[in-house]
Amino acid sequence: MAQIKQLPPHEAQKIAAGEVVERPANLLKELVENSLDADATSVSIFIEQAGKQLIRVVDNGTGMSPEDARICFYQHATSKISTVDELTSITSFGFRGEALASISAVAKVTLITKQTDAKEGIKLLIDKNKIESEEPIGCNTGTDISVADLFYTVPARKKFLKKDETEWRQINQLFQAICFAHKNVHFKLHRDRRLVYNCPPTPTTKQRVAQLWDKTIFDHTIEIMGSNEAAHIQVDGIVTNHHYGRYDRNSIFLFVNNRWVKNYELSRSLIKGYMNVLQAGKFPAGVVFVTIDPQEVDINIHPRKEEVRLAHPMRVNKVISHAVKLGLENHLSSQIKKTVTISNQPEFDERITPLPSHAPFQSAPPLPSPYAKPINLNEQAILASLPSKISSEPAIQTEQKSVILETITTKQFPGTIIGQVHTTYILIDKQEGLYLVDQHAAHERILYEQFTQKLSEVATITLAFPQIIQKAELELDLLMPYLDILQSHGIAIERFGTDQLIIKATPVHCKRVNLSELISKMIGWITTDSHADQEAVKKGLNEHFHAQMACKAAIKAGDVLNHEQMKNLLDTLQKTDNRFTCPHGRPTGWMLSWYDIEKKFKRKQ
Ligand code: ADP
Ligand code: MG
Repeated sequence: MAQIKQLPPHEAQKIAAGEVVERPANLLKELVENSLDADATSVSIFIEQAGKQLIRVVDNGTGMSPEDARICFYQHATSKISTVDELTSITSFGFRGEALASISAVAKVTLITKQTDAKEGIKLLIDKNKIESEEPIGCNTGTDISVADLFYTVPARKKFLKKDETEWRQINQLFQAICFAHKNVHFKLHRDRRLVYNCPPTPTTKQRVAQLWDKTIFDHTIEIMGSNEAAHIQVDGIVTNHHYGRYDRNSIFLFVNNRWVKNYELSRSLIKGYMNVLQAGKFPAGVVFVTIDPQEVDINIHPRKEEVRLAHPMRVNKVISHAVKLGLENHLSSQIKKTVTISNQPEFDERITPLPSHAPFQSAPPLPSPYAKPINLNEQAILASLPSKISSEPAIQTEQKSVILETITTKQFPGTIIGQVHTTYILIDKQEGLYLVDQHAAHERILYEQFTQKLSEVATITLAFPQIIQKAELELDLLMPYLDILQSHGIAIERFGTDQLIIKATPVHCKRVNLSELISKMIGWITTDSHADQEAVKKGLNEHFHAQMACKAAIKAGDVLNHEQMKNLLDTLQKTDNRFTCPHGRPTGWMLSWYDIEKKFKRKQ
């Protein structure tokens, strides 16, 4: 008996739909690309329930005639090509005439559209690829398309939709990518009737980044640029500097010939540009555009064109890594110039050298680290590591800026503490120069390392009056799987009812810590990292946690220290791992060499 049956077209269409519209973000991409293909300069997006309930895109593009509106939902209905031969010269995003057909097979669609010269527009309700109703309507030129009740015809597929937060993150990421690639278009994104982003056209990527990323990230961005002229490869963009690190790669946006691509190799080459300056497991954020001869790229290897294949990937990778390296190097040089200025003598900043990695207090050998490799964020070490490998590649022609720092060799010499200056820095007289140590940064590092290594020895105090902390129920639900992190840090904390936490004991060093604020921060970190697996989130939380506690519990700039306290601090710092930077990557100390001081006084040439 025959087993094979041919599916009726409407059933086949539902299956085909899966290829194009697997999830709300894919669907949104198709709709926005249609708007861009229609030369829209303004695109407003409305999302409800992460796109499961509604995805609506309103544009001011060319619009469609009523005749076109009626057939645009048919399979292979496209205005963009009429023969397959035209494929080679296509410049539009869509051309297969598949998106609207697929979408209307799996959701309820309302289309309102009008062309410039038309007196009125047309409104169509489409359900399961059929026009349910049609009426003329007064409306603006352009197209307004609403897709409601996604996958209501295919419950099996609906089940595979992820939770709202996950789908929303995809939408958010897609929106950002589109904004980066089309800086001349005004985009707006609304979520559940609230305007989330409003991005008028901007001339530069940096300004686009400022519209989309919050200030804490934006403040850490630098511009990068590089090229391999012989191979016609150009790279430019914005990336975060070494002080910023996140726990996922989701904020790395790469574009090849202005097309957003998810290419593992390319993002790896971007990360590689940071060499050892980012902590293990941390990733930068960045928006990087690669411009390359179109003959060198194959964009048709993925049904949604999200991947590309490069004819010579190594060449492109090198230009990206090098551009990042150079950008960081220039940034660090300028930071160093800016950071160290002494009183009103602006010229002094030129030859200040950060502490060498084997300084500053040589009296005791450093303790062996329990960690495989200490994270070295020492700025000099970064600079030393930066120009080495990649700049030796001859094909890359990027302007090299000279590094103002010089390596110094420190002799063993116990330093003499001169005193505290600006109630912030400890000044030390040493044989090779004058050392400045930031008391807060130094203490922060010491505490951070202690928290990391000696968790079990935390001394706690039982509170006379338990502290009650109120938070939203949803937030507490999010926090519950991670409550043991707080507990392992000596905070005796439990959930108390639906929306409260009760704290009965805290570690001694938590006296200055606002626990309610810390817990809010923790919820924020969990939300940001919620797509990562629980172990990765835990790891990240622990690191955040130590850094926060260390920061809050450490002595501050402005705290007066006596000689004994300064000595203690320096002695302990000397025995601490990773002592050249605080947990946020700021340097703990700097050195101004006598040679340079003498040069300034014209005692030396
Ligand atoms: P494709 O984009 O591959 O041609 P689609 O199914 O996405 O296929 O769209 C079918 C056709 O509908 C397009 O070729 C275009 O003519 C028309 N269309 C879709 N969206 C818009 C829009 N926002 N503005 C103007 N025309 C549109
Ligand atoms: Mg299309």
